[in-house]
Amino acid sequence: MGKENCIFCKIANGGIPSSTIYEDEDFRVFLDLNPATKGHALIVPKVHYADLFELDDELAVKAILLAKRLAERMKDALGCDGFNLVQNNGAAAGQTIFHFHLHLIPRYEQDGAGIAWNPGKVSSEELKELVQLISET
Ligand code: AMP
Ligand code: ZN
Repeated sequence: MGKENCIFCKIANGGIPSSTIYEDEDFRVFLDLNPATKGHALIVPKVHYADLFELDDELAVKAILLAKRLAERMKDALGCDGFNLVQNNGAAAGQTIFHFHLHLIPRYEQDGAGIAWNPGKVSSEELKELVQLISET
């Protein structure tokens, strides 16, 4: 979906109401309507970037700093025991809204939230091959 019909553009810029917990000139942070846990929030830039690949570098830094600040606040306010930061890119990765956003997910002992993967196996040959494919130096 292009930015013309993007629901997160509308929410972030105040065109559609949301349960906002933070706002500044660059971001709106609001509660997820289908939360993984109590307090699940989304950090959403006001300008449309589809995903991490498009995101402006300066905003990427600001988003992480904001996540850190809000996680600290939420830890105090909600008494959560841990935190997941989740950020999906592409349908294959579970992205459903194609406007960059960062999930802030407070975690509680025994909350049963299914944010996990099945640990796989990798051979030392595959590891070497991957290092050659991916590493920059
Ligand atoms: P993702 O799958 O990473 O693209 O995440 C999209 C998230 O947006 C999901 O967790 C949805 O529950 C959430 N969501 C979708 N529409 C709304 C909305 N109108 N207000 C709040 N959260 C929403
Ligand atoms: Zn958008």
